[in-house]
Amino acid sequence: MKEGEKEIELIKKGKRLDGRGFEELRPIKIEVGVLKRADGSCYFEMGNNKVMAAVYGPREMHPRHFQDAKMAVVKYRYNMAPFSVDDRKRPGPDRRSVEISKVSREAFDPVIIKEYYPKTAIDVYVEVLQSDAGTRTAGINAASVALADAGIPMKDMVSSVAVGKIGGEVVLDLSGVEDNHGEADMPIAMVARTDTITMLQMDGHFKKEEFERGLKLAMDACHKIYELQRTALIERYSKSVGEGEE
Ligand code: ADP
Repeated sequence: MKEGEKEIELIKKGKRLDGRGFEELRPIKIEVGVLKRADGSCYFEMGNNKVMAAVYGPREMHPRHFQDAKMAVVKYRYNMAPFSVDDRKRPGPDRRSVEISKVSREAFDPVIIKEYYPKTAIDVYVEVLQSDAGTRTAGINAASVALADAGIPMKDMVSSVAVGKIGGEVVLDLSGVEDNHGEADMPIAMVARTDTITMLQMDGHFKKEEFERGLKLAMDACHKIYELQRTALIERYSKSVGEGEE
């Protein structure tokens, strides 16, 4: 909670302010291939978070001295639109977006098979259109589907969600008000098929058993998100093939 902010009751009669149970995700909507110019793209909603991911590449890396002779270089740019928050956000990169871009790129490190495309760049752009906490996780989910849509060789997709603590309870997928007034927030990303965690951050405090419960909750949720990501891709491509279009 920010300094000077009033404490508010986040749990009433065993339910959260938006009516969710403790272990419930916000509604998720996924659309694949929404941007024509991008090699791969995905629009992803997670409750009030609305995120667009676009992937370009593998393409020639400029400037050349940034090229890696052995593998592709993955670049990841997370950006929040000025209109994505209640107060206008100053446009352009800041410390927070630079950090989120870095950890998100690293979340894909174990899965993208970069050795196939030496000297190239793979650009991942994540634009947050509307934010309500958990935008880095929504961005990773969107980027994962966009990378698959672009045909970038990956060992598997990455799925991501946050768990946190509000009113002394460990809960899944914090909303904005829960994030602001809660006690802890822990976003994770993982390869669901192998249960490999590729990102884990923590803000606030968990007791050991809360951490363990939260981690299990987040991992189970990542399995659900992975299925939604897979289904969205299968639907998109079975349609194209079935209709004999592309
Ligand atoms: P995440 O969105 O991944 O949870 P944070 O925990 O840093 O990342 O941010 C939580 C939420 O706080 C964001 O989703 C957004 O709604 C809000 N927020 C973050 N940065 C700003 C900002 N500069 N101005 C207004 N709101 C912001």
